Amino acid sequence: MSLFDEVLWPGGKFLGIEWHPWKVVGWAGNAVFTSRFLVQWYATEKQGRVVVPSLFWWFSLGGALLLLSYAALYQRDSVFVAAYAFSWIPYLRNLLIHHRTERDRPRCSSCASMGTAGDRYCARCGSAHTGPGAPKTNET
Ligand SMILES: [Zn+2]
Repeated sequence: MSLFDEVLWPGGKFLGIEWHPWKVVGWAGNAVFTSRFLVQWYATEKQGRVVVPSLFWWFSLGGALLLLSYAALYQRDSVFVAAYAFSWIPYLRNLLIHHRTERDRPRCSSCASMGTAGDRYCARCGSAHTGPGAPKTNET
Protein backbone atom coordinates (compact mmCIF):
# COMPACT_ATOMS: atom_id res chain seq x y z
CA MET A 1 0.00 0.00 0.00
CA SER A 2 1.41 3.41 -0.98
CA LEU A 3 1.59 6.43 1.31
CA PHE A 4 -1.09 8.04 -0.89
CA ASP A 5 -3.46 5.14 -0.20
CA GLU A 6 -2.66 5.14 3.52
CA VAL A 7 -3.48 8.86 3.84
CA LEU A 8 -6.47 9.18 1.50
CA TRP A 9 -8.02 5.69 1.65
CA PRO A 10 -7.22 4.10 5.04
CA GLY A 11 -9.32 0.97 5.58
CA GLY A 12 -10.69 1.29 2.04
CA LYS A 13 -12.66 4.46 2.98
CA PHE A 14 -11.97 7.97 1.69
CA LEU A 15 -10.13 9.76 4.54
CA GLY A 16 -11.10 6.79 6.72
CA ILE A 17 -14.68 8.13 7.02
CA GLU A 18 -17.82 5.98 6.76
CA TRP A 19 -19.58 8.14 4.12
CA HIS A 20 -23.37 8.53 3.85
CA PRO A 21 -25.63 11.53 3.00
CA TRP A 22 -25.59 12.98 6.54
CA LYS A 23 -21.80 12.82 6.65
CA VAL A 24 -21.76 14.84 3.42
CA VAL A 25 -24.11 17.43 5.03
CA GLY A 26 -21.94 17.62 8.15
CA TRP A 27 -18.63 17.90 6.26
CA ALA A 28 -20.14 20.43 3.84
CA GLY A 29 -21.20 22.48 6.89
CA ASN A 30 -17.66 22.26 8.26
CA ALA A 31 -16.17 23.30 4.90
CA VAL A 32 -18.54 26.26 4.45
CA PHE A 33 -18.21 27.42 8.06
CA THR A 34 -14.40 27.18 7.97
CA SER A 35 -14.20 28.93 4.58
CA ARG A 36 -15.55 32.11 6.14
CA PHE A 37 -12.19 32.67 7.83
CA LEU A 38 -10.39 32.53 4.48
CA VAL A 39 -12.90 35.02 3.01
CA GLN A 40 -12.40 37.45 5.90
CA TRP A 41 -8.64 37.05 5.90
CA TYR A 42 -8.43 37.64 2.12
CA ALA A 43 -10.65 40.76 2.32
CA THR A 44 -8.57 42.16 5.19
CA GLU A 45 -5.25 41.54 3.42
CA LYS A 46 -6.60 43.01 0.18
CA GLN A 47 -7.77 46.24 1.82
CA GLY A 48 -4.95 46.51 4.37
CA ARG A 49 -7.38 46.96 7.25
CA VAL A 50 -9.76 44.70 9.19
CA VAL A 51 -12.80 44.03 7.00
CA VAL A 52 -15.76 41.66 7.45
CA PRO A 53 -17.36 41.21 4.00
CA SER A 54 -20.99 40.11 3.65
CA LEU A 55 -19.76 36.80 2.20
CA PHE A 56 -18.32 36.04 5.67
CA TRP A 57 -21.83 36.28 7.15
CA TRP A 58 -23.35 34.22 4.31
CA PHE A 59 -20.78 31.47 4.91
CA SER A 60 -21.42 31.73 8.67
CA LEU A 61 -25.17 31.39 8.12
CA GLY A 62 -24.92 28.55 5.58
CA GLY A 63 -22.34 26.60 7.57
CA ALA A 64 -24.23 27.00 10.85
CA LEU A 65 -27.52 25.82 9.29
CA LEU A 66 -25.85 22.78 7.70
CA LEU A 67 -24.13 21.90 10.99
CA LEU A 68 -27.38 22.48 12.94
CA SER A 69 -29.31 20.15 10.63
CA TYR A 70 -26.56 17.51 10.96
CA ALA A 71 -26.54 17.85 14.75
CA ALA A 72 -30.33 17.96 15.21
CA LEU A 73 -31.51 15.47 12.58
CA TYR A 74 -28.67 12.95 12.46
CA GLN A 75 -26.30 13.26 15.45
CA ARG A 76 -29.03 14.20 17.95
CA ASP A 77 -26.38 15.57 20.29
CA SER A 78 -27.75 18.27 22.61
CA VAL A 79 -24.35 19.94 23.08
CA PHE A 80 -23.79 20.17 19.33
CA VAL A 81 -27.39 21.37 18.71
CA ALA A 82 -27.08 24.07 21.39
CA ALA A 83 -23.82 25.32 19.81
CA TYR A 84 -25.60 26.11 16.52
CA ALA A 85 -29.24 26.61 17.58
CA PHE A 86 -29.03 30.40 17.95
CA SER A 87 -25.81 31.40 16.21
CA TRP A 88 -27.70 32.14 12.98
CA ILE A 89 -29.48 35.13 14.61
CA PRO A 90 -26.49 37.54 14.66
CA TYR A 91 -25.41 36.30 11.21
CA LEU A 92 -28.82 37.18 9.77
CA ARG A 93 -28.88 40.49 11.67
CA ASN A 94 -25.44 41.45 10.33
CA LEU A 95 -26.54 40.63 6.77
CA LEU A 96 -29.60 42.86 7.22
CA ILE A 97 -27.48 45.73 8.58
CA HIS A 98 -24.97 45.24 5.75
CA HIS A 99 -27.80 45.41 3.19
CA ARG A 100 -29.16 48.62 4.71
CA THR A 101 -25.68 50.19 4.80
CA GLU A 102 -25.07 49.36 1.13
CA ARG A 103 -28.54 50.60 0.15
CA ASP A 104 -27.88 53.96 1.86
CA ARG A 105 -24.50 54.61 0.23
CA PRO A 106 -24.57 57.57 -2.17
CA ARG A 107 -23.72 56.99 -5.85
CA CYS A 108 -22.00 59.78 -7.77
CA SER A 109 -24.19 61.05 -10.60
CA SER A 110 -21.09 62.12 -12.58
CA CYS A 111 -18.71 59.12 -12.39
CA ALA A 112 -21.04 56.47 -10.84
CA SER A 113 -18.57 55.55 -8.06
CA MET A 114 -20.02 54.55 -4.69
CA GLY A 115 -19.42 56.82 -1.71
CA THR A 116 -19.62 56.31 2.02
CA ALA A 117 -22.91 57.12 3.78
CA GLY A 118 -22.80 60.75 4.87
CA ASP A 119 -20.29 61.89 2.22
CA ARG A 120 -21.40 65.15 0.58
CA TYR A 121 -18.94 64.97 -2.31
CA CYS A 122 -17.53 62.22 -4.50
CA ALA A 123 -14.01 61.20 -3.38
CA ARG A 124 -13.12 60.33 -6.98
CA CYS A 125 -14.31 63.31 -9.02
CA GLY A 126 -15.44 65.90 -6.45
CA SER A 127 -19.04 66.22 -7.67
CA ALA A 128 -21.75 66.77 -5.08
CA HIS A 129 -23.73 63.61 -4.26
CA THR A 130 -27.42 63.80 -5.12
CA GLY A 131 -30.32 61.38 -4.99
CA PRO A 132 -30.87 58.43 -2.61
CA GLY A 133 -28.07 58.00 -0.10
CA ALA A 134 -26.86 61.59 -0.39
CA PRO A 135 -26.83 63.46 2.92
CA LYS A 136 -29.68 65.88 3.47
CA THR A 137 -28.56 69.48 3.60
CA ASN A 138 -30.14 72.78 4.54
CA GLU A 139 -27.67 74.71 2.39
CA THR A 140 -28.97 76.44 -0.72
ZN1 LIG B 1 -17.76 61.07 -8.93
